[in-house]
Amino acid sequence: MRRIMIIGGGQSGLQLGIGLLDNGYGVTIVSNRSGEDIRNGRVTSSQCMFDAALQHERDLGLNFWEEDCPPVEGISFTVPAENGGGKQLEWAGRLDSYAQSVDQRVKMPAWMEEFTRRGGDLRIQDAGVEDLESYARDYDLVIVASGKGEIGRLFERDAERSTFDKPQRALALTYVHGMTPRPEHSAVCFNLIPGVGEYFVFPALTLTGPCEIMVFEGVPGGPMDCWGDVDGPRGHLERSLEILDAYLPWEAARCRNVELTDDQGTLAGRFPPTVRHPVARLPSGAAVMGMADTVVLNDPITGQGSNNASKCAAAYLEAILARGDAPYDTDWMQATFEHYWDYARYVVDWTNALLQPPAPHMLQLLGAAQENPALARRMANGFNDPRDYFPWFMEAGAAEAYLDALQAA
Ligand SMILES: Cc1cc2nc3c(=O)[nH]c(=O)nc-3n(C[C@H](O)[C@H](O)[C@H](O)COP(=O)(O)OP(=O)(O)OC[C@H]3O[C@@H](n4cnc5c(N)ncnc54)[C@H](O)[C@@H]3O)c2cc1C
Repeated sequence: MRRIMIIGGGQSGLQLGIGLLDNGYGVTIVSNRSGEDIRNGRVTSSQCMFDAALQHERDLGLNFWEEDCPPVEGISFTVPAENGGGKQLEWAGRLDSYAQSVDQRVKMPAWMEEFTRRGGDLRIQDAGVEDLESYARDYDLVIVASGKGEIGRLFERDAERSTFDKPQRALALTYVHGMTPRPEHSAVCFNLIPGVGEYFVFPALTLTGPCEIMVFEGVPGGPMDCWGDVDGPRGHLERSLEILDAYLPWEAARCRNVELTDDQGTLAGRFPPTVRHPVARLPSGAAVMGMADTVVLNDPITGQGSNNASKCAAAYLEAILARGDAPYDTDWMQATFEHYWDYARYVVDWTNALLQPPAPHMLQLLGAAQENPALARRMANGFNDPRDYFPWFMEAGAAEAYLDALQAA
């Protein structure tokens, strides 16, 4: 039996681990947090996942919350008017299939139990380089799926594929109960405040039932980069509501009766979006392979990280199964990553584009979506597979041709 070691019990590590178990592999996952630590800890993400990524979970029978988690049925996009009060731009597009967000504090402990139930070996330990050395000796393949964890620095930053070397947004999450639902259909309500940042909010499932997750993306040094001095969870909620009062009164109006889901329902932080080389050499010369956020870390502005993690785990699973009994050498590791990168590079390019002031053709398209429901729908569904934005959203010439074609139709 081939034996695979995975460092990190998050979205990608557990999904891949369970997929391998189902195919008769021996799998160990080392996690530096137990299920109980995760359940009792702070929120980590807003983890909104679209249909293609959810399908990988369904394929493994891991969609335990599909009936209980409120569906996200569309994407709405709003730009406030410059003089305050009103809206400059507003449209919404329906998703062809719903998205869902299950709090990782709910999902990961349950997946850990499931991993063990299906025969996996789960160890609670903070893996260091020495541990990796011993795993590399004892296992056929070592995969590092440690997310933003320090151990991921073993993988060298890929300067060619990384656009930024500094955080591009000050991030904050606020999980609440009691928000007034969006009237027409549920959606990721995305608000772009030029020069200040972005705010988006959508329904999710947390430890205490259905909730809404508020996500703040503040331009560094700007007025939404304001989390350093908040006083505890209540202060964090107050600051969240102050931002909405100041910039997005229609969102503030939905929040008259909100309360935090729990004292761990807030998060603030920042990190530079980074692409890393997928193969790292340990001091002994043994090679280990990186997966998901460890090697392709995006800003959450487009809500793609968990989606990528699911797709990366699915791609790696397929590659491992296809490898049969042949060795997992560094050529295979590199090729396996490149196959995933053929998808992920589109997500990276699109996400990085949205972190910068929008190009004129993007503004034109976003404006045209207000008049054209088919365009709004296409914009919304691109979140499920961002390759669809290429080239018409990303390139000025293609955007012009596409707008002409839409008008002619
Ligand atoms: C504010 C915010 C909002 C987000 N919103 C969204 C969203 O709406 N949609 C979306 O798709 N994505 C979103 N994401 C991103 C998403 O959460 C991540 O991309 C996803 O969880 C990555 O999965 P992963 O398996 O790579 O790593 P993770 O899920 O981070 O798992 C890594 C695991 O490894 C463990 N670990 C780390 N180091 C070690 C070690 N040395 N030894 C053992 N274990 C270790 C960690 O504790 C963790 O459990 C958001 C992220 C943030 C920060």
